[in-house]
Amino acid sequence: MRAFTYTLLPTRMVFGVGALDRLVDEIERLDVQRVLVLSTPEQRAAAEDVARRIGGRAAGIYDRAVMHTPIETAEDARAAAARLQADCCVAIGSGSTTGLAKAIALTSSLPIVAIPTTFAGSEMTPLQGITAEGVKKTVRDARMLPKAVIYDPQLLTTLPVHLAGASGMNGIAHCVEALYAREDNPITSLMAEEGIRALARNLPVVVREPGNLEARGEALYGACLAGICLGTVGMALHHKLCHTLGGSFGLPHAQTHAVVLPHATHYNRDAAPEAMQRIIRALGSADAAGGLHDLAGAVGTPLSLKVLGMHEKDLERAADIAVRDPYWNPRPIERADIRALLQDAWEGRRPE
Ligand code: NAD
Repeated sequence: MRAFTYTLLPTRMVFGVGALDRLVDEIERLDVQRVLVLSTPEQRAAAEDVARRIGGRAAGIYDRAVMHTPIETAEDARAAAARLQADCCVAIGSGSTTGLAKAIALTSSLPIVAIPTTFAGSEMTPLQGITAEGVKKTVRDARMLPKAVIYDPQLLTTLPVHLAGASGMNGIAHCVEALYAREDNPITSLMAEEGIRALARNLPVVVREPGNLEARGEALYGACLAGICLGTVGMALHHKLCHTLGGSFGLPHAQTHAVVLPHATHYNRDAAPEAMQRIIRALGSADAAGGLHDLAGAVGTPLSLKVLGMHEKDLERAADIAVRDPYWNPRPIERADIRALLQDAWEGRRPE
């Protein structure tokens, strides 16, 4: 038998159409009295609905969550939580909003109830990327793991389809890298393969049929598995590249994942043959990297860094940052090869 270590994460998950109706029960289980509701400015109305449901226990709304959690935003939100004497955060939104709740929990240990509205998977991880002085650094701390997560596919009907596809590719990226992680193990690999399958089957339906709750629910299940994978094992080259491009060049998080994933997978192809077999099986494609590129195209995400607004002249600096303090990766990180990978991603070539 293969020796391995696996730590089970203790988050409670509530799934189902209309699961948001169970929010008050979840808050009662935590026995908290002053709930701070967090959202992005764009999802203020959803935050107001959540606050209405919570009623007298809602202490206030903080609606300034933004992508990549700048340290200034984290500190402002922490001050708001302290001022309102909050004893719990409810994050309605996804990666950015959950990330802000985590930033608060990191310094205050407030419990989090997360209500994801994309497929990014952040709600299942004790990880948080905070951006300071143009560099995004990831912190792992069990205090940031939400106590409860409410997965309600109805909340995904308002997600613009271009974001739905891209955030689903972000979820798939967690699964792909879990399959070749240094800490890979049979339990995480099971979830990773199933996560890819659930997302890859359902995302094309999600983007084609805006009212399809079944596909949104199945894709949320995939996103939950993806989040567990991300929270359980370390990530590799792909996440390092995306953190570089997002943190230092301001590229949009989910779309960057969608563009880079086929190229990072291709980079690791010969170093992680078992992972590639699992990806191929889950996608039902002939090839892992090509299959991911085709899926990104099928769900309508941009296929090149050029389209995302990256300047070609910045690729040199991106390569420099990406090879600095590299994450563990199954294939050694060579600057020239990373520079070539970035060129392919910038041009949007299908990896062969
Ligand atoms: P997001 O949370 O930044 O949302 C993108 C935009 O879509 C926002 O304007 C948001 O308000 C809007 N939106 C989200 N759901 C919506 C809905 N259902 N209806 C209408 N509008 C909606 O996007 P994301 O991709 O989920 O998160 C990206 C951020 O999350 C990045 O900062 C990334 O680093 C972080 N992240 C962290 C982890 C982790 O484990 N720490 C995992 C994944 C992502």
